[in-house]
This record gives sequence, structure tokens and C-alpha cells, in this order.
Amino acid sequence: MRKIALLGATGSIGASALDVIARHPDRFAATVLSADSRVDELIALCARFRPQHAVIAQAEHYLALRDGLLAAGLATQPHAGADALAELAGSDASDTVIAAIVGAAGMRSTLAAARAGKRLLLANKESVVLAGALLMRACAEHGAEVIPIDSEHNAIFQCLHGIGPANERVGKLILTASGGPFLNRSRAELAQVTAEQACAHPNWKMGRKISVDSATLMNKGLEVIEAHWLFGMPAERIEVLVHPQSIVHSMVEHVDGSVLAQFGQPDMRTTLACALAWPERVESGVAPLDLGRIGALTFQHPDRTTFACLDLAYAALAAGDSASATLNAANEVAVAAFLDGRIGFLDIPQVIEATLAGAERLPADGIDTLLAADASARRDANSHISRRERIAGASA
Ligand code: NAD
Ligand code: MG
Repeated sequence: MRKIALLGATGSIGASALDVIARHPDRFAATVLSADSRVDELIALCARFRPQHAVIAQAEHYLALRDGLLAAGLATQPHAGADALAELAGSDASDTVIAAIVGAAGMRSTLAAARAGKRLLLANKESVVLAGALLMRACAEHGAEVIPIDSEHNAIFQCLHGIGPANERVGKLILTASGGPFLNRSRAELAQVTAEQACAHPNWKMGRKISVDSATLMNKGLEVIEAHWLFGMPAERIEVLVHPQSIVHSMVEHVDGSVLAQFGQPDMRTTLACALAWPERVESGVAPLDLGRIGALTFQHPDRTTFACLDLAYAALAAGDSASATLNAANEVAVAAFLDGRIGFLDIPQVIEATLAGAERLPADGIDTLLAADASARRDANSHISRRERIAGASA
């Protein structure tokens, strides 16, 4: 029986994970569930999955969680706050941790799971972008087994199986990108798009932050950095290819020209089932892939001028040190401001670029320096956004 801590249980990845877990009560048990602030949803999940522990990250909701669990007659122990989350991620309550919190907020618990030598099912890509070197070192030192829960990286993980990472037989990794809701749009068309339009992804149902990242192509930029750390591959051997149908989840090109790809429906339950059962295979609830009905799979190169975020991510990776931490934090702040209607879609890459340009580069060798870079990027990005709002207000 696998004992699973699901961090970010109320999110989109959380829901896919619980769907797969519920299909296999003989194999998987959710022993820890966490949420940010939605106490009622967390209690409802506890009633269904009966974990030993439930954590609410926003500590002011502790009493509501405790009383709600008691009222429901559940034996689940309540916890609150970021410290409790990190502690439980590393505790004996689980052998497997699904890191499915969104943003840099997931970094501490992801790192705690790595340091405790867990099987780490890693969806929280921002923690890899923020602290990739540290995280991979912690996994290696403590024997944590990382299985990626990003469909692209999971595809590459499957294609690489048996050859090992950074092997000289691999020429390059090809990450596929759907292109998001604004594929083939011009800059002029993107100036007025709304948050709702940006979140209406054609193929995937995901949280709002990653949906906007998909629309800007920053998601693929973050994934390039993620692939660099997970597979030890230099940036120049990681390519991005737009594939609007989202059926080919990524590919590995060998030096002899042979390309292996992984196919599947755009449904994260396949990825989660693969990772939860690995190296075995279990049913995921996903319908079989009918390629005859899909008919055509198409590919094109990304438009790197209109979707400037992709190259900003490559540039941050090339710059090294804390630049990726700065990129990630500036992106989180810019996306939140776009979702709040404070800035336009095309302002997102501009805020990130300005933040990167002004950022002091700190060594990426310690968690404190990386968190300092993250905090300073959030301050700078916020002041770039305020300045833009003042200019827009003055000209209105
Ligand atoms: P989501 O917004 O749907 O869910 C996020 C979860 O994190 C929620 O349970 C929320 O309560 C929790 N959370 C948010 N802020 C928190 C905080 N400060 N402290 C503790 N918990 C917090 O997001 P999602 O789409 O499920 O994505 C989760 C992660 O998985 C992201 O890093 C995303 O990039 C990655 N990912 C998602 C998908 C997908 O299909 N949704 C695919 C690949 C990778
Ligand atoms: Mg992905």
C-alpha cells in the first residue's frame, strides 16, 4: 500500500490525483491532504478519503478546520501553516509526496519531501525553477526518487526509461506546447485579451495561474528550465515545438536520429496513474486514444516574438545564478496582476523583462539567497506594475 501525502489537494492536479487514488483503494491511500484556504473543500475531501492528517496553509483557518473535522466525526488530525506543511511533507505519515501546490509557495514542502527521501511526484514546477540545483542535490543526497507530473516531463521520463539521464545517446529533448488559447494570434490581437479568455485553454482544464502561463508560453519557458534540472540537459539541447492537439506529450531525439515520443489524451490522470504506480501500470479512468478519429497531428515552431516569455526563460536559464528565481517570482506577480485586471496581457513579459534587467544576481547555492532573490523580484515587479497603472491612469 502506497501512503500518499497530497499537497494541494483542492487544486486541479489534486483532483486528478484523488480520482486515480479512489480507483485503487487496494494500492493507494491518501494519508495527508493539504489546501491553502478552502477549509470546507478540504473537510469534504477528508470525509471521503479519511487521511490521518489535514493541513490548511493559511493559519487563520485552523479553528474552522479543527471544528469541521470534529463535527464530521473524523479522526483526521488538523494542522495549520507553512511549517506544519513542510513537517508533514517529510514525516513518516507518507512514503510518496505529490507536490501539487502552485507557485514558489510549494518550494519548502517539496524540498522537505526531497530531504526525507520520498518518492516525489513533482507537479510544482515553480520550485524547480526557483531552486533546481538545490532540489536535485537534495534528491540525490537523500535518495528521493523524482517522477515528474508535468505531462511533458513525464513523457520524457517514460521515453528515457532504461537509458538514464544526460546520456550521450540522447541528442535533444523536444518539449511539445499546445500553443494555448492564443495560438497564431498577432500582437495587436493580444493587446485587449481578458483573463477569462486566457484561462480558456483549448485542451487542458487547469488552475488559473498555469492557464495564463500556457497562454503567454511562459509555461513552456518554465518547463525548459524544469527539463534542464530534471534531466541534466543543457538549454541548447532542449527544443520547444508547438503541437496544438496535445496528444504527443514530448519527445526524445537520439543521436542516430531516432525519436521516441509518448502519446496520450490530454488528461493528467494518465500522468498521475503512471507516476503513482511506476514502474507498474494501473487503470486511470482516461478513455483510450482514438488516433483514427483525431486524424491529424500537426507541429509548428513557436512564434517567439509575439510570445516573448519563452525567450525570457531561456535567457534566465543561460544567465544562471538567481536569474530563474527572479523570472519565476516576477512572472507570479505579473500573472496575478493580469488576473486582477491591473495590467494587460502584453504587459506580462514587459514586467518580467524589466524585473530581470534590474535584478541583482545572487549565487543560487543556498535557500536563503534564492528566497531573497524571489522577495526582491516580487517587490520590483510590483513597483513596475504600479508605475504602469499610474501611467495608464494618467492617460485615461
Ligand atoms: P490550482 O490552482 O488548481 O491548485 C493549487 C493548489 O495549491 C490548491 O490546492 C491550493 O489550495 C494550493 N495552494 C495555493 N497556494 C498555496 C499556498 N500559498 N500554500 C499552500 N497551498 C497553496 O493549480 P494546479 O493547476 O493544480 O497546478 C498545481 C501545480 O501543478 C502548479 O505548479 C502547476 O504548474 C503544475 N501543473 C499543473 C498541471 C495541470 O494540469 N493543472 C499540469 C502540469 C503541471
Ligand atoms: Mg506541462
